[in-house]
Amino acid sequence: MIMSEGRNRAIEVFTLTKNFKELTAVDGILFEVGAGEIFGLIGANGAGKTTTIMMLCTLIRPTSGSARICGYDIIKESKKVRESIGVVFEEPSIDIRLTGRENLDFHARMYRLPKKMREERVSEVLDLVELRDKEDLLVKDYSGGMQRRLEIARSLLNHPKVLFLDEPTIGLDVQTRRKMWDYVKKMNREEGTTLFLTTHYIDEADQICNRVGIMDHGEIKAIDRPERLKYSAGESVISLKLSTGSKEDFSRLLSELDWVKEIDESNGSFRVGISYGEKRVPEIVRLARENGFSISSISSHKVTLEDAFIRHNEGG
Ligand code: ATP
Repeated sequence: MIMSEGRNRAIEVFTLTKNFKELTAVDGILFEVGAGEIFGLIGANGAGKTTTIMMLCTLIRPTSGSARICGYDIIKESKKVRESIGVVFEEPSIDIRLTGRENLDFHARMYRLPKKMREERVSEVLDLVELRDKEDLLVKDYSGGMQRRLEIARSLLNHPKVLFLDEPTIGLDVQTRRKMWDYVKKMNREEGTTLFLTTHYIDEADQICNRVGIMDHGEIKAIDRPERLKYSAGESVISLKLSTGSKEDFSRLLSELDWVKEIDESNGSFRVGISYGEKRVPEIVRLARENGFSISSISSHKVTLEDAFIRHNEGG
């Protein structure tokens, strides 16, 4: 079991599975998220991220397995789960014909709060996402980023302990995305909200999340702090293409170097995970030349979370 470093658990998932007819969208996943953590799930299209969130939010029923949110069972105590969470989905669901405040007030009525408290709560979440000065503007006149912030404000009306964000920044420009993450981090810091998010932008997951899970074909292939995921196979990657010489012999030659941590080869293209050190590229070029190999291109870069993602998606 992959533990979340000894804190109270906000999310506990036990071999959770969802089948859609013969397709297994989520395949027996097992993990925990600690209270106050920012946890990110990354994966290609169709990996099973949204299906996972839908089950944890009690919107669809698992085929087997179970999960607890703030200690409440997603099947037997679904009402308690819903009271503890907020959700923001990729597809916008606010009413663009109403103003920002009207949208929130409409939603707050569902919690049956007295009028005064409702007004206070709406003002508070508008402040949090810095939309107070736009509260009387029709949402159709909001920018994409403002609309997304309003959705987040709405999901916070019930002071959720856990907030699920499915692709909250998709389709937003770089500056707006950065701003969005600032709000999200502020919420986590100031309200102690546990955040469970999915994103296609792997570099963002790297910067924002305390821990990241890599999901592929319904399974969680790896889960850890971003830097541990990144550096488990070296701190830099050398990419090179071999033009002459046996690929197997070249692999063997590389594997004898103590600073080479991992070698992946496909059609003569090598990705070599290495530990830090200067002049690794010229060293490989020299070694290749001395042993009768020729390299047509070679470059190196510091390992990114994307490298870890590619490695795990290639069945590593
Ligand atoms: P994306 O990044 O594109 O949002 P995802 O990781 O969120 O992808 P899911 O939406 O969870 O992936 O989908 C996982 C798999 O389950 C996909 O193959 C999808 O087609 C399938 N799937 C999802 N919902 C249903 C459904 N209601 N009926 C049948 N198949 C479904």
